[in-house]
Amino acid sequence: MKDGQQTMGKAQLYPLRFEPIYQYRLWGGRRLSGLLSAPLPGDGPIGEAWVLSDRTDYQSVVAHGPLKGQTLGQVMEQFPEQLMGKLSSRFHRFPLLLKFLDAHQMLSVQVHPSDAHPELIPPGDTAKTEAWVVIEAETGSHIYAGLRPGTTPSNLRQSLADGTITDHLVNIDPKAGDAVFIPAGTVHTLGDDVVVFEVQQNSDVTFRLYDWGHIDPETKEPRPLQVDQAFACIGFGASDGGLVAPCVETTSPQERERLFDCHAFRLWRLLGHDPFPVGAKAEPRVLVCIAGSGQIMHDGTPYAAGRGDVWLLPAEAGECAFQPSGEATLLEIAIP
Ligand SMILES: [Zn+2]
Repeated sequence: MKDGQQTMGKAQLYPLRFEPIYQYRLWGGRRLSGLLSAPLPGDGPIGEAWVLSDRTDYQSVVAHGPLKGQTLGQVMEQFPEQLMGKLSSRFHRFPLLLKFLDAHQMLSVQVHPSDAHPELIPPGDTAKTEAWVVIEAETGSHIYAGLRPGTTPSNLRQSLADGTITDHLVNIDPKAGDAVFIPAGTVHTLGDDVVVFEVQQNSDVTFRLYDWGHIDPETKEPRPLQVDQAFACIGFGASDGGLVAPCVETTSPQERERLFDCHAFRLWRLLGHDPFPVGAKAEPRVLVCIAGSGQIMHDGTPYAAGRGDVWLLPAEAGECAFQPSGEATLLEIAIP
């Protein structure tokens, strides 16, 4: 029996930090070693750190305290009310998947299905809307999000054969702090040394449209494409995807900007040097420290948050105080 189960009757949840799950990706690099405290495995390219995942194949594991060693799925099952609050009857699996991406090379040009295409979504998975907050970028880094006006199914298909697909994509020259929204159905990619934080629906359904001629060194083969499925998902015409202008909600005691507000997630950026509130009554929140450091105060106990740290605040923690050490920038994520 695990520690957490022995005290289940009167157990209280506390702010939860999980071990990152590093993923080999041929387009990845080694930059996440400068962002996350857990050491990167091996010396190959690591493209993704899954920092909060309730997926059957990859479960986040609690890194500290009485629940250390338990998976997010187990915590969801044992403490549905305490963790999810008013959302507990709607979600039996944590509905968001959170990652840092280190795109050293370009990712495949890809698209994810919306709920309008249930036939393209495997059983147990969902549609996938996602969004990025740029953490680091270089001159020459790329983000492409959405189609340029005038793009049609036929000229887009022709561009795959010509290798001219970028002529049809909206180009963003990324810089740290940029916020990019990728609703399901939006053609997108990124790379050439850009690091982003990614929030997405808990889904792994990706259709690759184009892969730049990359050969996977592990298999010595190009990765498979799913062009027909991708075309079925692409929203041709107007889209609300792309670079987002932050909306300032408050400036005191901290600056609070809303970056994303969609059916699947809401995300704010918080910047301050005096203590400010985080978390919310009766619902879970996720905090991601992207600059500076500080501590989350819960029940008289401080929980340290440095750059790259991710904390899940259970619903029963309610509103907590965040005490920056100097100045800190956090992302706070809610489930609508
Ligand atoms: Zn994607």
